[in-house]
Amino acid sequence: MEKPGDVAPATLDLQAIRAQFPILAERVRGKRLAYLDNAATTQKPEAVLQALDHYYRTSNANVHRAVHELAERATTAYEGARDRIAAFIEAPREQIVFTRGTTEGINLVARSFLQPRIQPGDEVLVTGMEHHSDIVPWQLAGARTVAAPVLDDGSLDFDAWLKLLSPRTKLVAVAQISNSLGTINPIADIIREAHARGIPVLVDGAQGIAHLPVDVKALDVDFYAFSSHKLYGPTGFGVLYAKREHLEAMEPWQGGGDMIRTVAFEGSTWNEVPYKFEAGTPDMAGAIGCAAAIDWLDAIGVEAAAAHEHALLEYGTQRMAEVPGLRIIGTAPHKAGILSFVMDGAHPQDIGSILDMEGVAIRTGHHCTMPLMERFGVPATARASLAIYNGEDDIDQLVAALHKVRRLFG
Ligand SMILES: *Cc1c(COP(=O)(O)O)cnc(C)c1O
Repeated sequence: MEKPGDVAPATLDLQAIRAQFPILAERVRGKRLAYLDNAATTQKPEAVLQALDHYYRTSNANVHRAVHELAERATTAYEGARDRIAAFIEAPREQIVFTRGTTEGINLVARSFLQPRIQPGDEVLVTGMEHHSDIVPWQLAGARTVAAPVLDDGSLDFDAWLKLLSPRTKLVAVAQISNSLGTINPIADIIREAHARGIPVLVDGAQGIAHLPVDVKALDVDFYAFSSHKLYGPTGFGVLYAKREHLEAMEPWQGGGDMIRTVAFEGSTWNEVPYKFEAGTPDMAGAIGCAAAIDWLDAIGVEAAAAHEHALLEYGTQRMAEVPGLRIIGTAPHKAGILSFVMDGAHPQDIGSILDMEGVAIRTGHHCTMPLMERFGVPATARASLAIYNGEDDIDQLVAALHKVRRLFG
């Protein structure tokens, strides 16, 4: 089971890291910016901005299609990005499918893998804390979604989850880290138990990828999806890792462009994996920017980032307990840097607006997890979520603003 708190806290040069994020110097509402909305999207370091700029200034051309020099540069950079991304999660490069993000990766699995393999009444076993992107695609593919319950502290009820595995379960799908609660799910145990019953597993790595080391080979996971924009990389780009046997057996989902081998009016044939799932001109800059983000994060180390964020989570948890009438939702023993909360007498929307006036950026709402809000009996929460560039000063600014909310709402 992953326990980021067990990693010896590395000393991380916070000022040097912050200096690499130009946007963190922005003043908002005349105040210092405390950016605590990282579970929605992360900011981008200079290395990523420069990689994007460099690509468009020196190498832009369509990939795989021409013999001219720029097309060669673009293709080399783009396929080099695939190597870099593959190495980051210990995967062979042919098993890295480029997508628009986590959502598209899950939809691809739902349409190409699940849908052709299910009968009426077949189930996908999810958890009660899944993002809508890990619920709705399964329903669109015609499966019943069965959700394992969440305990009061925000942990998965693992025993109940086990009992819900049945011969009707065609796939298990689970978030590595809950975006609403911060709960770190026991994905290694989940994969082991599902595989013991011959059931494949998809891990939604949207929140995991930047905050926990990921080794898809050691995990033996069938599918792992993530988004570049939550990993300090550009928006509109993501990755689906899948086992080779699945990719080979799956039919393409979209047609056109790079996914074909031959086209005839009588019928067409498909390119090899992973290209058979990459129709149309891809997001070259996205791939290159994502690889640059991985280079940047890897140089610091995901373990060091996780240790820093864990220490900050503990500090934030303590400091927020000082605010009268504030209740944190999600206090699982294995937790990443997400602090979801409600306050007596103050609607999350109002909390968010008052914090904004104080320069504190958080998210309020259902966080695309409506069933989870229902489980905790709240329409919405306010959520502060941490990243590598956050420090105690951000938490202090948040807590001071929360005291202001308290004063305003009595
Ligand atoms: C953000 C998120 C998604 C969706 O990611 P997109 O980048 O919007 O496709 C899915 N699952 C979780 C847990 C998330 O946090």
